[in-house]
Amino acid sequence: AKASGRNNYQYFNEEMNMAAAMHFEMESALRSALQLGQFELHYQPIMDIATRRLATLEVLLRWRRPAGGLVMPDQFIPLIEDNGLIVPIGEWVLRRACEQSMEWQRQGIAPVPMAINLSARQFMHRGLVDSIRRTLEETGIDPALIEFEITETALMQHGEQTLEILGQINAMGIRLSIDDFGTGYSSLAYLKRFPVRKIKIDRAFIKDLEESAEDRAIVAAIVALSDSLQLSVVAEGVETEGQFQLLREQGCTFAQGYLFSKPVLGVRAQLMMDKAA
Ligand code: C2E
Ligand code: CA
Ligand code: CA
Ligand code: CA
Repeated sequence: AKASGRNNYQYFNEEMNMAAAMHFEMESALRSALQLGQFELHYQPIMDIATRRLATLEVLLRWRRPAGGLVMPDQFIPLIEDNGLIVPIGEWVLRRACEQSMEWQRQGIAPVPMAINLSARQFMHRGLVDSIRRTLEETGIDPALIEFEITETALMQHGEQTLEILGQINAMGIRLSIDDFGTGYSSLAYLKRFPVRKIKIDRAFIKDLEESAEDRAIVAAIVALSDSLQLSVVAEGVETEGQFQLLREQGCTFAQGYLFSKPVLGVRAQLMMDKAA
């Protein structure tokens, strides 16, 4: 028993070393990924429920590893948030999205607002507001075509400082949305303090909408309160026509999910857009 215990321990140790080595390898690969041009943006449509037309494109980051395929953000964003790489990478995301929007406009495509994710770590960086301002100026994009999505949890983290930064961003003409709404501990009444225009109901409440009267009640309550605060509501993770119809009946404004499209490369997203009139 003793011997096998020791073996287990050794095995466990080896596994830990392997995990640490993989983590280290990934971290150093991430450090050069930006220079090597290994990041790419995918775009997912957010649809206007009433008209069933494209309203916004959410910008989602992917990491294309030469030998490892496409790495999804859940596998590397926590790491780059920890080591601060999210700051330069996040700046690249905004710049690339603005450039893409300008390219489309030059091709005669009617502009569609882009929704860009910002993590809490980016808010703690003092240069954020200046960096955004510079990117807007250098790309020439209309700030009204940019929306930032910030999670409820990130908003609650830094109180007054966050409120001030959001005020500055809002003053530039950029709109703000609350992401993953319902998973944190905030109340809509509290969110009224933030210059927010839209809230995105987390997929957790949409997933079982057709089966769960409780989830339907939660969504209805969020929509009702949002209406009274003049916020529009996006439902995330809409996968079925049944979910879509329920959301429509409940007066939800926008829907996003695989029912319409998975996130796709720019060349495919372009096919979803109209020529400017
Ligand atoms: P999020 O902002 O909540 O993005 C929505 C996620 O749900 C995306 O995953 C999207 O592909 C997925 N999704 C959309 N529709 C459906 C659906 O119908 N069913 C299901 N099962 N999933 C759906 P993705 O692209 O893997 O992104 C994961 C998270 O990574 C994002 O969650 C966001 O928090 C973060 N992220 C992605 N890109 C960026 C970025 O450029 N900057 C920052 N800071 N975070 C990012
Ligand atoms: Ca988002
Ligand atoms: Ca979300
Ligand atoms: Ca999420």
